[in-house]
Order: sequence, then structure tokens, then C-alpha cells
Amino acid sequence: MTINSHQDHTASYYAATANKQTVYEQLNGHKKTDVCVIGAGFTGISTALHLAERGYKVHVLEANKVGWGASGRNGGQMIGGISGESRLSRDLSKINEKLVFEMGWQGHKIIRDRVKKYNIKCDLKNGYIDVAIKPKHVRDLENYSKVLDEYNFDFGQELLNRDEVRETLGTEKYIGGLKINYNGHLHPLNLCIGEADAASDLGVVINEKSPVTKIIHGAKPVVETSKGSVEADFVVLAGNAYHFLEPKLRGAVLPVKSFIIGSEPLSTELVNRINPQDLAVCDPNYILEYFRLSADKRLLFGRRFPYFGDNPDIIKKALIPKMLQVYPILKNTEFEFGWGGTIGVTVNRVPQLGRISDNVFYSQGYSGHGVNVTHLAGQIMADIVGGTAERFDVFSKIKPVIFPGQHLFRNQLVSLGMLYYRLIDAL
Ligand SMILES: Cc1cc2nc3c(=O)[nH]c(=O)nc-3n(C[C@H](O)[C@H](O)[C@H](O)COP(=O)(O)OP(=O)(O)OC[C@H]3O[C@@H](n4cnc5c(N)ncnc54)[C@H](O)[C@@H]3O)c2cc1C
Repeated sequence: MTINSHQDHTASYYAATANKQTVYEQLNGHKKTDVCVIGAGFTGISTALHLAERGYKVHVLEANKVGWGASGRNGGQMIGGISGESRLSRDLSKINEKLVFEMGWQGHKIIRDRVKKYNIKCDLKNGYIDVAIKPKHVRDLENYSKVLDEYNFDFGQELLNRDEVRETLGTEKYIGGLKINYNGHLHPLNLCIGEADAASDLGVVINEKSPVTKIIHGAKPVVETSKGSVEADFVVLAGNAYHFLEPKLRGAVLPVKSFIIGSEPLSTELVNRINPQDLAVCDPNYILEYFRLSADKRLLFGRRFPYFGDNPDIIKKALIPKMLQVYPILKNTEFEFGWGGTIGVTVNRVPQLGRISDNVFYSQGYSGHGVNVTHLAGQIMADIVGGTAERFDVFSKIKPVIFPGQHLFRNQLVSLGMLYYRLIDAL
């Protein structure tokens, strides 16, 4: 994406089944507001909605369309926990460790409450399973199950042995699993569009096709696009892996591509054989595979591979053989969709919430684990705008580690990273 161009949604299953096309006009002229949010993915829209609910005047500037980035293209798996949680908790007291653990599940509640409150139709369902490929993974899941047991909350967790996983998922590939019913899955683009509608109804101004070119810092920062500007008391930067706006953040997030294929709708017989409980599924590898059924019973199967384009045929060609290792039974199934998106990955995997200055904040780098955490992050951004820093400081005290030369050598770095993680997965 060049800074002044703008794009429609990628040709994904989600775009094909979106509840509506958003049509927010471009920014024109000079505007004033309390908070200007840059980016209309989950982070930006969630922040805007939290702020609007608290009575702030908010203006969102989106380079492309609402949900154009990772938020409108992802696996739709709503998974508890925060990426890099052990690093996040490392220097904390027991009390704050508990705070971090609890934060890792707060996004679920925000999403569920909003879906209900604003009547957002996004196919939200409970049900998820972490699967194990090696004995070490089984031990990890047993330990994680104990951690969940320690909290006074019903996550609906259940350890499954090899036979039970085979029964649950109709595949021989996995040797154990941990079902967590409090996790779930949803149509991410429809969630993002629904939240944007709710924000707009509360008075949030949203401009699509309005790429921000510059932030002029000062007592009242000014955010510029080619056709206008927004002056605000605060700015929240929510462009994740896509922007190069702030030199201080350049190289803080490595943009890593992940891809998804979507099948034709499966017969009831096939559904009953491969996923009768309608669970979202995720394996534990670094180059992980994740899959689930859509509301109309298509298999949506995702994985990373070292490719930087968006040709659906190339994506299908790479992913179908991987999918068949899980489900040989689908060898005659047609795959109608293949698309990709960019994940913002950080060196230590911890999401980066911080400040550029007293009135410019950022939230990014959820390392592939953002459906839940972006919703928490939006709430924390609204907190910090209001002057409450307790949860913000848990993140902001960990300074971003910079990938040197990332903006010049990003593809080479990603390829090297993939190779490294493939080796680790193979051990
Ligand atoms: C293929 C894929 C599968 C995934 N699966 C899952 C999953 O199953 N579960 C999970 O928890 N997470 C998943 N993730 C991660 C999750 O989608 C992200 O962490 C999350 O959506 C990040 O949201 P965001 O709003 O921060 O960023 P984005 O959704 O990327 O939004 C950033 C927005 O900022 C805009 N922007 C950038 N620069 C500018 C600018 N200069 N001016 C104006 N606007 C700008 C972009 O156009 C974009 O719309 C997946 C990601 C991908 C790509």
C-alpha cells in the first residue's frame, strides 16, 4: 500500500458475506475533536466505541475501509490470554500477575457484551480446542489446564485424550487436546462493521479512504491526510502492522503474512464427521495451523507460508495439501476462497501499548492473537486518554524491541523468521 492509495476489502469469505458495505466519506477540510484515532480495525474501532460510550467526541481516520486490515480477514478465533504473557508477568508481583491473567480474558466479555447490546450479527459461538501434536504439547496443555483451574472462574475446560480428540475432530493428527468452552469464534469483519455502526450511532465520525500522512505533535496534535486534517486533544495510533507514521515505532512490529482458505459449504454428513461440536481449533506450533467452520459450514483453514502476494490460486495450492494432512476425507471438496493478511508480530510477542508523547498513544503488535486482546486494548486506550494508567502501564513499561532495517528488508526478515520457527517446530 502506498501512503495515498486506498483499497477495498480483500476477496475473502468474510468480504463475500459481509452484512453490508460500509460507506463513510473521505476526510475533507479541517476538523476539531477530542480524540483522533488512526486506523479502523478492531483496535481503532474498539477504542472509538469505548471513548464514545464515555462521552468523548471521536474522529476515526481509516486509510482504506473499516476492517480492511487483519481485523476483517482473520481466523475469527476468540482465544483467551495475551501473547507473550509470561514476559509480561515476569517482573510483576503476584497481584499484578493475576491482573495480567484476568486481562487476557476481558476482551471476550467486551465482545459478548457489545454483540448483545448493539445487536451485532457476527455468528458468535462458544467453543474452542487447543490440540497437541507431540507429548510435550500434551504436558503443556495439562499445565495450562491447572492454571485455569486455579482461577475462580468457569472456563468450561476439559482435557481430551487421543481417542476423544479423534472423536471430536474426526482426524488422526492430534494426540490430545484442551477444550475451552469460554473461547469461541465469530465473523470478524461483521463484528468490526457492527462495532463501527455502533460507534457512528454514538456520534463518532469515521472517514474511510483517508490515509494519514503525518502527525504534527504539540499541545493539540494535528493529524493530516492529503485532503484535510483533524486537530485533537489526543491521538490514538491503531494502524498496527501497516503504517510507518512514527519514526520511533519503525521496526517495532514485523509484518508477517498468514493465509486462509475457505471451502464450499460441507454436507451435514461431513460436518458431523469433522467437527460436530463446531469448535475453533488451533495447534501449538509457531507456524501454526488454525481452522473452524463458518456459520454456513465451510471449512476455514489457516496457516502461514513464506509468500507475500495475494493470489488465491497460489494460496490454495500451498494450503490445500496441509489441510488434507488433517482431513484426507475432504480430498474432493472444492475450495472457493484463498486470501491473506498481515499480522503484526513483536520480538518478545508482547503487544505494544505505549506513548509517543503526552497526548499521542499507540497500541499494536498482538502477534497473531488479537481478536480478544484488541478489544481489551481499546478499553485501555480509553482509560489512558481519561488519565487512568494502571493497565496501560503493565504494557508500556516494556519498551518495544526494534527489528533493525525492518522497513527495508521486511520480506527477507520474515523468510528468515519462518525458517527459524519451522526448525523449532520440527524439534
Ligand atoms: C490471516 C490472519 C488470521 C488471524 N487469525 C486470528 C485469530 O483467529 N484470532 C486472533 O485472535 N487473532 C488473529 N489474527 C490477528 C488479528 O487479526 C489482529 O491481531 C487484529 O485484527 C489487529 O487489529 P488492529 O486493529 O490492531 O489492526 P488491523 O486490523 O490491521 O487494522 C489496522 C488499520 O489501520 C489502517 N491504517 C494503517 N495505516 C494507516 C494510516 N496511515 N492512516 C489511516 N489508517 C491506517 C489500516 O488500513 C487498517 O485498516 C489473525 C491475523 C491474520 C492476518
